[in-house]
Amino acid sequence: MKKHITAHGLSFEELLDAPSLAARIEAMGRQIQQDYQGKRPVFLCILNGAFIFAADLVRAADVECELSFVKLSSYRGTQSTGQISQLIGLDTDLRDRHVIVVEDIIDSGETLNHFLAQLAQTGVASIRLAALLLKPTALKYPLKADYLGFEIEDRFVVGYGLDYDGLCRNLPSVYQLSVTS
Ligand code: 5GP
Ligand code: MG
Repeated sequence: MKKHITAHGLSFEELLDAPSLAARIEAMGRQIQQDYQGKRPVFLCILNGAFIFAADLVRAADVECELSFVKLSSYRGTQSTGQISQLIGLDTDLRDRHVIVVEDIIDSGETLNHFLAQLAQTGVASIRLAALLLKPTALKYPLKADYLGFEIEDRFVVGYGLDYDGLCRNLPSVYQLSVTS
């Protein structure tokens, strides 16, 4: 696979190649499989970025389950209350269900912190979080991923579902912004 790519004029270098991603996600899937035997969990994929990760994770977890999708639209309000996230498209009744939220990356944690609080109000049986990537030094909220792929440094990444202004989602590796960009 390519070690370097460019998108919208910026340079990126490979951080996690496809075999590394696959091996880690296989292990995460096996762990989920053990933990959720007989519980028929609902994997809740956060669109758009998590779609490839979710596709691989659910196939790595050989357990009876359902898969649902939500899109979080967030924007910064003019108020000092900060970011507002909106829940779009949650069409599954999650009452009394064991939910595994599947997210591509946790940066500040703001979006997810807000969403998980909303989700907890819907009468779910349990919530766990599966995240592919975490930037520990960027984290501002007390979030813990129950299933975590990789901790990475606080640099912008693309590929494997993650985009830079619409590009790069289809790349099989994860790339990070080159320092020289
Ligand atoms: P947070 O609310 O945790 O600060 O940001 C979460 C969302 O921002 C992620 O779900 C993702 O969509 C986006 N994001 C955060 N860091 C990155 C990154 O390095 N690359 C890309 N492509 N998106 C990111
Ligand atoms: Mg995302």
